Amino acid sequence: MTTNKKYVYHFNEGSKEMRDLLGGKGANLAEMTRAALPVPPGFTITTEACNQYYNDGKRISDSLIQDVDAALAKLEQDTGKSFGNSNNPLLVSVRSGSVHSMPGMMDTILNLGLNDETVVGLANLTNNPRFAFDSYRRFIQMFSNVVLGIDSYLFEEVISDLKERQGFSFDPELTAEHWQEVIGQFKQIVRKETKHDFPQDPKQQLYQSIEAVFASWNNQRAIIYRRLHKISDTLGTAVNVQLMVFGNMGEDSGTGVAFTRNPSTGEMELYGEFLLNAQGEDVVAGIRTPEPISRLQKVMPEVYEQFVRISSQLEKHYQDLQDIEFTVERGKLFMLQTRNGKRTAAAAVKVAVQMVHEGLIDRNTALLRVDPDQLNQLLHRRIDERVNLEVLVKGLPASPGAATGKVVFDADEAEALAKKGEKVILVRPETTPEDIHGIIASEAILTSRGGMTSHAAVVARGMGKACICGCEGIKIDLQKKEFRVGEVLVREGNTISIDGSLGTVMLGEVPLVDPELTPEFIELLSWADEVRELSVRTNADTPEDARKARDFGAEGIGLCRTEHMFMAPDRVPIVRDMIMSESIEERQDALAQLLPMQQNDFYHIFKEMQGLPVTIRLLDPPLHEFLPNLEELLLEVDRLRRSENKDLIELRTKEDILRKVRSLHEMNPMLGHRGCRLGIVNPEIYAMQVEAIFNAAFILLEEGIVTEPEIMIPLVGHVNELSLLREMVMQTYERVRKNLSGELNFTVGTMIEIPRAALTADQIAEYADFFSYGTNDLTQTTFGYSRDDAEGKFLQYYLDHKVLPENPFVVIDREGVGKLIETGVKLGRAVKPDLKTGICGEHGGEKSSIEFCYLKGLNYVSCSPFRVPLARLAAAQATIKHGKRGKVN
Ligand code: PEP
Ligand code: MG
Repeated sequence: MTTNKKYVYHFNEGSKEMRDLLGGKGANLAEMTRAALPVPPGFTITTEACNQYYNDGKRISDSLIQDVDAALAKLEQDTGKSFGNSNNPLLVSVRSGSVHSMPGMMDTILNLGLNDETVVGLANLTNNPRFAFDSYRRFIQMFSNVVLGIDSYLFEEVISDLKERQGFSFDPELTAEHWQEVIGQFKQIVRKETKHDFPQDPKQQLYQSIEAVFASWNNQRAIIYRRLHKISDTLGTAVNVQLMVFGNMGEDSGTGVAFTRNPSTGEMELYGEFLLNAQGEDVVAGIRTPEPISRLQKVMPEVYEQFVRISSQLEKHYQDLQDIEFTVERGKLFMLQTRNGKRTAAAAVKVAVQMVHEGLIDRNTALLRVDPDQLNQLLHRRIDERVNLEVLVKGLPASPGAATGKVVFDADEAEALAKKGEKVILVRPETTPEDIHGIIASEAILTSRGGMTSHAAVVARGMGKACICGCEGIKIDLQKKEFRVGEVLVREGNTISIDGSLGTVMLGEVPLVDPELTPEFIELLSWADEVRELSVRTNADTPEDARKARDFGAEGIGLCRTEHMFMAPDRVPIVRDMIMSESIEERQDALAQLLPMQQNDFYHIFKEMQGLPVTIRLLDPPLHEFLPNLEELLLEVDRLRRSENKDLIELRTKEDILRKVRSLHEMNPMLGHRGCRLGIVNPEIYAMQVEAIFNAAFILLEEGIVTEPEIMIPLVGHVNELSLLREMVMQTYERVRKNLSGELNFTVGTMIEIPRAALTADQIAEYADFFSYGTNDLTQTTFGYSRDDAEGKFLQYYLDHKVLPENPFVVIDREGVGKLIETGVKLGRAVKPDLKTGICGEHGGEKSSIEFCYLKGLNYVSCSPFRVPLARLAAAQATIKHGKRGKVN
């Protein structure tokens, strides 16, 4: 199909605003060209052309070929070189470039335009036949792999055989003649594998390469990467065709990658690497370990100065940390790429805050720069630096974080073990984009080669995984699945720990400590607090968690799950007595023992929260959860019955327990006798809890701390359930108050976690002072999924096959569960305009769900203590993106 769309843009026709069309790389090459920076000339084929290629059944149209020919003619004119000209050949690189950077996931071809004739021209022109033939063999190798689909190792084998025969260790020892011999053998491989000769016509080489880059949009690793980073599959990739410049033309040439600030820590320093006499792919692929950028300063001081100037110009222009690729050809600097650099969460926070201080960006921009999801990294436990650790070996600290796991040497194995729930650390000489699934599955990555800008490092930083690169002290034997550090042997399956911030590797496990907020992080969050309108509370049921959450900025407890208090080892026997009691008196006896314990729990939590709101949820799970497992009990009773000299007392006790466990056993406990249903049938349990809450609050009142408990009834589906239990709370209050002086302010509310409750929220609001959406159960009951069964059985399949767009237990399902939330808020506030509403399911700590809660007028979100900072940031981002919403009730 032909269209009139413009599919090809010269670099001087584009700009950074055209990223959707030109891809990130193309847009930035255009922007740099317009700023008159030294960019080798070229053109970009648009992402629309890629989509057209797929629409046309994976073929490039004649009209695109015409456009490419025209662009090529102009490039020839601009450079004075021409395609296939053996005196002055035009050589180009062909690179992918999608809207979102996907490092190494798609294909690249360098040195295109070389053939049996032009290679001679290049040799004459450069007076360097060795370089020319080396370039040609690299081209054949890349083209054959990417376009013709021939395995790289076939070519690598030829080179290693030759080196072995000659007694060489390194590629640079090979001469022009050696490379010519290699080229001869390479061409034979191509003939054998494809039944055709290696294509000699540069135009054919170009068309085929463009198709291959389009096709690489849908290779396995790119698909996996997109899924991980939630990049749409329909964007397509652009293709950049650019005049080749050579970093491997001798000791006055080289290639490098640099970040304008340290992407691991955010420090203000040029952070980069440089390889003398090498081509760009050598650095990115991590095949040779490069040297720090300061080496460039020593060998080519003027080029270094120019590079520093340009880097800082680019950072100011883009107002963000840049990741820059460059090449020096015979003493002349060329810029090949600039993009916003991938960075760790620590660096993201530091750079954003510093840039505000430098006057480069404003606070709102800084707040939007940090991805709340990424903050999880900063809120993870890390290695306790005060402990003296025995370090086995050290490498380059490529991506910070602590990790412990079993050593694996292969990406497939990493994935397989991780699926079984094992924590693994992937150890490789270097990683390639094919290892992406193994990297995702691993806790951390350790490579013996490659630098801080190698594939493993870049990808790990993007994912927030700890990574050590260039750890040359480890000698890996992939065959034997082991590595050695001197005398120490580490086998597959052995446990190691790594600290990605220091680059240290330790044997076994190491002690970890809780995270702390850095001064920059605290500052950024203080800006978030000024902007946000949504309150952030925490889910905590111990004083320690409450303190942690308050340190992280929680403004109250949104959910205190009291069942966890029942599960403490010293309480389980009493709880069991309570459950097993045959009469109300017996039960009261057990409850009387539990009362002071619960009271003590609440006292300490209230005290920790110093008057901030605390929502306490009465007992929720079914009682059988506190009793022994039915199957284990059956086996135990059976064993006792069969034993020769039975202990009859023990047998009777176990049989009693078995009877009770059987009577409490349910077919589907998630929908069974739990939550308020328990409180209605066994009111004495809830009454004890409520009494404990009031007693604790009264004691604190005497100590001068005013607490306003929020008592929450779980799993309400019908208004009568709430009205009955509200009445019970009121009566209990009257009973407790009689013997004490003073009055308490308290409220009674409900969880909304059953669809019926959301749909009848107007009736329920009559008896509720607040609603708290329990979106874990609300998601289960709305979808009719039991979470454990869904996640264990079919949910992954649903996600892989796009039956569902997201895991609804992680990101709120706006269309279904979300509609119920919205309905509930509207109905509830119609009856009670000042009804307080919040969310306390897992979604309360997830950015998209937080945004949804903001849009639907909820007052607060509540999440686990470690997620409080990210919820504060996400709440601020919601306000910045959607504007202030003002008073919601
Ligand atoms: C919920 O259902 O969302 C909730 C917070 O309760 P739980 O996870 O304890 O069932
Ligand atoms: Mg629940």
